Amino acid sequence: MTEISIKIPQKRCSKCKKVKNLDEFANRKVSKDGKRGTCRECNNKYANNYYYGITEGVKTQETEPTGIYKNCNTCGERKDLIDFRIRTRNADGRDTKCKSCLSKEYKEYVKTFDAER
Ligand SMILES: [Zn+2]
Ligand SMILES: [Zn+2]
Repeated sequence: MTEISIKIPQKRCSKCKKVKNLDEFANRKVSKDGKRGTCRECNNKYANNYYYGITEGVKTQETEPTGIYKNCNTCGERKDLIDFRIRTRNADGRDTKCKSCLSKEYKEYVKTFDAER
């Protein structure tokens, strides 16, 4: 077998503008070159922002139970308010789903970036 090419295919990330090896980009059948326009690193950053970065109240680290309970809209469990993130835009100032549902959802969300192989 002859060596065809030793050139490593590369691509520029549309977010961070860095040129990276193609395997740093998740596959995406619908795009022209079969790859995502953004690198995995940027995808992960985006996923992080989606749930945690740009939301309010992230700095507030609560450790004490509030003694106030609320039902999670997703798993239906009754949990202390400490299990719900602070969301000042919501009527009761808390997220509608508990933190464990949120992180589960977040993991699923991240997975979709690599699911299109
Ligand atoms: Zn990037
Ligand atoms: Zn829940």
